[in-house]
Parts: sequence; C-alpha cells; structure tokens
Amino acid sequence: MPELPEVETIMQGLIPVLEGRRLEHISVNRPDLRQPFPPALKVSLYNHKVLKLRRRAKYILADIDNGLTLLIHLGMSGRVFIDYPPLAKTLRKHEHFSMVTDQNVKIALIDPRRFGIVSLFRTKKEKEFPLLRHLGMEPLAADILPSQELYEIFKQKRSPIKSVLLAQKLIAGLGNIYVCEALFRAAINPERPAISLSLPEVSSLCEVIPAILREAINAGGSTLRDYVRTDGQKGAFQDLHQVYGKEGKPCPICPGMPGCAGIKRIMQAGRSSFYCPKRQQ
Ligand SMILES: [Zn+2]
Repeated sequence: MPELPEVETIMQGLIPVLEGRRLEHISVNRPDLRQPFPPALKVSLYNHKVLKLRRRAKYILADIDNGLTLLIHLGMSGRVFIDYPPLAKTLRKHEHFSMVTDQNVKIALIDPRRFGIVSLFRTKKEKEFPLLRHLGMEPLAADILPSQELYEIFKQKRSPIKSVLLAQKLIAGLGNIYVCEALFRAAINPERPAISLSLPEVSSLCEVIPAILREAINAGGSTLRDYVRTDGQKGAFQDLHQVYGKEGKPCPICPGMPGCAGIKRIMQAGRSSFYCPKRQQ
C-alpha cells in the first residue's frame, strides 16, 4: 500500500504536468472503485483548470478553478502513470480513470484491486468532508511534532503506542512501515501503552517521525508490491528499512550484543510489528 512518502512523491511528480493545466478529456472506464465515481466527475473537471496540487495524509488533492477539489486515494494497489504525446489509443489493463491536459499529457489511474477512491468536494468544505474530517496533524508540516501536546494526549490513551500512531486521528498518514521504523529509532516497544511513554520518549518520537518520512521522500518512497513512481522509476527507501520486513535478521543497532537476538515480528490488531526486543523495551 502506498504510504505517505510514496503519495508525496507521486503528488510532486504530478505537479509539473497538472498544475495550471486545463483538462481537455476525462475518461471514467467503470462505475466504481471502492466507492462509485461521483456522477458529476466528468462535467466537473472537463474544460476546467487545475489550480494547485496538495497532499493531505495519503490523499492527493487537486484544487480546480470551479471551487471543487478532486481527491485521489491509491488504496492498496493504485498506481499513477503519466503518458506524454503521442498518446496510445488503447487503455492499459485496470485503467479506470484518466485525465488529458491541454498539453496532451495523460494522467491515468491504474488500480487492479480497486481499493482506491476518486471523489470530489467543495474546496471550502474540506474540513467537513467525511474522508478528511477525522484526520490528525500532518507529520510533515513541521520539522518536529509538538511533543508536549502529544505527551498530554498519550496520557489519556491506554492502547498500545503502535495502534495510537496508526489510528490517523492524532497523526495523519502514518502507515505500518513508518510506525515500525519510528518506534525502532526512538527505542520504544510497540506494545507499550501510550500512557506509559515519558516526555523524553515522546520528544524522541516527535523528532524521528518527520525525519524518517523526509528520508523516505528523498529516496523516492518505498517500493512494495505494485507501487511504481509516476516516472516509472522504483523508489529506494526499502533499502533503508531497519526493521520492517526484517524478521530474524540481525538488529542493525545492537548486533552481537548480549540479549539482542535480532528483529522479531509480532501481530498487533492484525498487523505485523517488527522490532528489536532488546532495544525496544
Ligand atoms: Zn537490537
């Protein structure tokens, strides 16, 4: 599943071809993905200009010159392709939605498993839009997240820190990979109740989360399963993963140290957690 750094990378890749461009052809090739395409999608986009591209959590947002915002979520297997002229007449397999700009550049959404979402909302009503209204703070909006504020919030939460970080209500857009990596770097056991974290531990978490996300963006986002960047290049952040997917591998921080038996995997709320039981107690 594309995570925040991948979505940011894709959004950045779309800016040069979409911002300021007029949309001259819109194709909707099936009735639905995870939910139906909006009935007014074609008419709302056709012959309108894209003013600005943005990201909120894992959603790509395109503000249109008619006061609407187009929302794209890539779901589990969604990919975005940018095709330059001359454009092929044929559709790719699983090409469910596309837009062609006034420069004859096509942006196509390919989604074999169809867990993605394409939707529209009034730009001014963003805070009330059901998919966005429950989202917490943007982890990339600041270099360091507000640790005192998060510490106070964690003091109300008895569930494991892993679940609290994944819940999206507090910090938006953090998925399983980056939560595992952040907890490893901050040396916090994923099963610890959030309420048990000390202020220094929360401060450490508040520094490592934006840092890891930025490193991932600089590396082009992780490539896992179906995800490919808009330019067809594969991201390289998975080479930087220290614990995610590394069950049984030596721990990169305390190899050979007494008590460190390498990276362990446990299941938490149906998701794998990877961690070093020695470092993260
Ligand atoms: Zn270790």
